[in-house]
Amino acid sequence: MAAENNNTQAWQALDAKHHLHPFTDTGALNQKGARVITKAEGVYLWDSEGQKMLDGMAGLWCVNMGYGRQELIDAAYEQMKTLPFYNTFFQTTHLPVAKLAQAIADVTPGDLNRIFFANSGSEAIDTIIRMVRTYWVTQGKPYKNTLIGRENGYHGSTLGGASLGGMSGMHKQGMPMVGGIEHIRQPYWYGEGGDMTEEAFGLACAKALEERILQVGPDNVAAFIGEPIQGAGGVIVPPANYWAEIQKICKKYDILLVTDEVICGFGRTGSWFGSQTLGIEPDLISMAKGLSSGYLPISAVAVGDRVADALETMGEDFNHGFTYSGHPAAAAVALANIELMKKENIVEYVAKDIGPYLQKKLRETLQDHPLVGTIDGVGLIAGFALMKDKTTKEQFPSDIDVGYICREHCFNNGLIIRAVGSRMVMSPPLVITHAEVDELCEKTKYCLDLTLESIN
Ligand code: PLP
Repeated sequence: MAAENNNTQAWQALDAKHHLHPFTDTGALNQKGARVITKAEGVYLWDSEGQKMLDGMAGLWCVNMGYGRQELIDAAYEQMKTLPFYNTFFQTTHLPVAKLAQAIADVTPGDLNRIFFANSGSEAIDTIIRMVRTYWVTQGKPYKNTLIGRENGYHGSTLGGASLGGMSGMHKQGMPMVGGIEHIRQPYWYGEGGDMTEEAFGLACAKALEERILQVGPDNVAAFIGEPIQGAGGVIVPPANYWAEIQKICKKYDILLVTDEVICGFGRTGSWFGSQTLGIEPDLISMAKGLSSGYLPISAVAVGDRVADALETMGEDFNHGFTYSGHPAAAAVALANIELMKKENIVEYVAKDIGPYLQKKLRETLQDHPLVGTIDGVGLIAGFALMKDKTTKEQFPSDIDVGYICREHCFNNGLIIRAVGSRMVMSPPLVITHAEVDELCEKTKYCLDLTLESIN
């Protein structure tokens, strides 16, 4: 659909009539009309007005290998011709899913060698809730069933995912949430650290876990879950000492440690998994998004021996799964995606080349901007706070939606980055080049200037 056939208004009207959008104020959207995305190539998207935009979000943190990759397209096509669907229930399997499980096990840390498949990050999280609770039943401790997550953590949108996540806006819709879930404070030093040093704050946030475990009773706590770096919460990189303390506390009280790597997995932080970058040794990992570079929906849970062995020997079915668990076409695409990542040494490229380049360039270009309070990030994930007064850390009043204003300027000037409240976040495709990173940073600066003009 090229710009010359532009029919934007008709498409917007069609969309408004029948389509309810996720995470959207439908009334507000329909007054304005949705932006219609028509095609993509490399790190760029085009809309129905013919505007070319650098996709600084890799879709929704997922198109890691970029758009238009023939290897992934061919994998889907070939698999659909041979076996478009068969399930993995009832003691059946197929080659794409078996090969994919092996390929994932090859890149996961530690003994996380057994893989359970689902379709979305949220389903992977629901799987984890049921799996860890089942695990403790097999250990003769059915009462050890409370999960602890974090405020402002994001674990998806199913009832389980929304409950485990710490987004208050989600908790108030679809009440009541799932029981047996607790939340502790997030390790957001810049925003919540007050006068504490980063190290002291990191320790205090980890201690909050210990305090909550003692309050609930160690015998009642099944698992702690966290994103290595919070993504949807605004790209919050924890203090350097945080995860080591969390790990110690989990060990001390015999609590399973789960990392939600739906965003951090598959090279985003410069390792296959964020747990490796941040030195975490989880018992289970959830993954999705970058697993297939978003070309087809697929997610997975990597399970360490402790839990996997218990499931294997419990002598009954694990009564959980989805029609499309290990869907052959999605599995074939994910397998081709991992092979492509290896062929192009993409993890090393993020770790040693383009990741450090983005982080340096962002700081050089934006750190002195009057709106930019701090820049956080590792590899190809980054975020920064927009401040009314960066010297006093004064925030904008709530009637100025500075993040939204900035995001709109970006959209209108050929750049997609996302606003999380007053934090701007980015996670471009891992295949982004140096010249494209330059464009990303320069456009961001230009749009920050426009934002400043708009609010003054
Ligand atoms: N977990 C994390 C860390 C996420 O970032 C997301 C989505 O952004 C999810 C879970 C949910 O994934 P999905 O939207 O595929 O259900």
